[in-house]
Amino acid sequence: MNSWLWWLKTLRRAVEAFFFPVRCLACGQWTEKGPVCKDCYEKLPWNRKSCPVCARPYPPEVPPHPCGDCLQPRAFDRVIAPLRYEPPVSEWLQGLKFREDFVLARDLAVLLKEALAKEGPFDLVIPVPLSPKRRRTRGFNQAALLARWAFGGFEEILARRRETLPQSELPARERRRNVRGAFGLRKPQDLSGKHILLVDDIFTTGATAEECARVLKRAGALRVTVAVVARA
Ligand SMILES: [Zn+2]
Ligand SMILES: [Zn+2]
Repeated sequence: MNSWLWWLKTLRRAVEAFFFPVRCLACGQWTEKGPVCKDCYEKLPWNRKSCPVCARPYPPEVPPHPCGDCLQPRAFDRVIAPLRYEPPVSEWLQGLKFREDFVLARDLAVLLKEALAKEGPFDLVIPVPLSPKRRRTRGFNQAALLARWAFGGFEEILARRRETLPQSELPARERRRNVRGAFGLRKPQDLSGKHILLVDDIFTTGATAEECARVLKRAGALRVTVAVVARA
């Protein structure tokens, strides 16, 4: 490489590092390319073996097969969840829930986008909405934050129709009842033939995603792919 070219590149990297510093999300070291350094990237709890429909984590020795929940048709078509909800990922997502951390959102969005590189194209990107009350107290919606960083924008098509209890405080069997009928379209519209990407931070029992997907399908959506950072 020409030496002036090398200098130019080095200068550019220095400028970038100054204005857009990237620290490894896991170990905090400066890295050239985020969001995690090479060593930490290898060690992340990747969700490599999982249910082909809902991404439920499987042990490595299990052959590919749909899980018990997915033997019945589900309202969504597929869940993409690159990581498992284990430390340090669980800590990051907890962090994102309680503070509007743009760097953290940007870093997690990179991982989400990577996982979706071979998927799509999507006609619409829709974050799972927060209830107006929680939106007011929290001030932001972490699903919308992820969607904005990963895809540059999103459509606010879904709305919460009523307040629900936080899913994380309920046992699995009550979660479905808690969110039943809780979502609707903001305004009536025809989603015929659309492939929709529904974005959220985490997928646990899937009650929320299922309910949102049901609303979208009822409005005509052809496919609903759910994208989350982590699968519990
Ligand atoms: Zn690291
Ligand atoms: Zn499944």
